[in-house]
Amino acid sequence: MMKNILVTQPALPPLDEFVELLKDIWDSKWLTNNGKYHQQLEAALAEYLGVKYVSLFTNGTLALISALQVLRITGEVITTPYTFVATTHSLHWNGIKPVFVDVDPVYGNLDPTKIEAAITPKTIAIVPVHVYGNPAEVEKIQEIADTYGLKVIYDAAHAFGVNYKGHSILNFGDLSILSFHATKVYNTIEGGAIICHDEKTKKRIDYLKNFGFAGETTVIAPGINAKMNEVQAAYGLLQLKYLKENIRKRKEVADIYDRELDNIKGIRTLKQHPNATHNYPYYPIFIDEKEYGKTRDELYDYLKANNIFGRRYFYPLVSEFPMYKGLDSAKPSNLPNAHKKAEQVICLPIYPDLESDKLEEIIQIIKDFKG
Ligand SMILES: *Cc1c(COP(=O)(O)O)cnc(C)c1O
Repeated sequence: MMKNILVTQPALPPLDEFVELLKDIWDSKWLTNNGKYHQQLEAALAEYLGVKYVSLFTNGTLALISALQVLRITGEVITTPYTFVATTHSLHWNGIKPVFVDVDPVYGNLDPTKIEAAITPKTIAIVPVHVYGNPAEVEKIQEIADTYGLKVIYDAAHAFGVNYKGHSILNFGDLSILSFHATKVYNTIEGGAIICHDEKTKKRIDYLKNFGFAGETTVIAPGINAKMNEVQAAYGLLQLKYLKENIRKRKEVADIYDRELDNIKGIRTLKQHPNATHNYPYYPIFIDEKEYGKTRDELYDYLKANNIFGRRYFYPLVSEFPMYKGLDSAKPSNLPNAHKKAEQVICLPIYPDLESDKLEEIIQIIKDFKG
């Protein structure tokens, strides 16, 4: 029987190189709390990404929950429903009311032309997502934020290493968060980070992720424990060495999909933003059931029957989950573009070591299944 092909498969560093670093950690007996590898990885990532300050976290969700605390966000936050649930849950965990605004039909990012209508006296911030690694409309969002005195925190979980107009996308907004989960382009097994632009904020972030300790006996804020450990930081340093090559391999996969799928009627591939570099984290396709002759779910199930496990990111929309469905802004009539995307999307397998015969097989199945 054919081996299952999943939507992603993590790239791991060479085991022997990791074992060397593990030996060093074993010798030092320093396992966490801002150790040597933690410091090295923060510096290496800041350089790789082209940003000023990186604070490592246990995962992307804790980074986002903490980022909201760093800026003391309360009240209402404008955000997108077309995302992974962690974006919205992080607001909820801070007692913040999410206010959903629709996305643009091309990239699926927060539509800046619809933001102003959603602002109320309680609005404190905007939390957009760079969906599938395509940059959100950062300039327009900043203009609105400046006009209304709002903070901007980007959920950049998909946008590791993405540059926009020659600079890191992570330099926009007040803060950005990254996820280094096993399924992401760059992984530390679990992990994440907050990116900030000044030393004072960096300090506050680092206090908050360590219970609020600012010294042996000084606690300056009700912090949390969200520190990355030395084993994962060391693993992360190794991962960085192989990242460019892994992104190049992802691009090869994406290029073949583009070439083969673009001309199938009823299948739309994702447009890449012209002003950005790309990291190919996902390969979403959007099925127009009238033109393709089969529904999205029929294709999804058929792929599954052939041991190919795509994922419907992002279906259901976050605004459809029971804890958010009752909100005024969650009404489907408020979010037509997001609903259309959620109903049409399948993310196809993409990862550096996806074998070319498997890739061809996936493409052939999609071609043959067309009604
Ligand atoms: C993966 C992801 C997160 C959560 O990151 P974790 O590291 O898994 O906690 C948040 N937002 C988006 C958009 C994601 O894709």
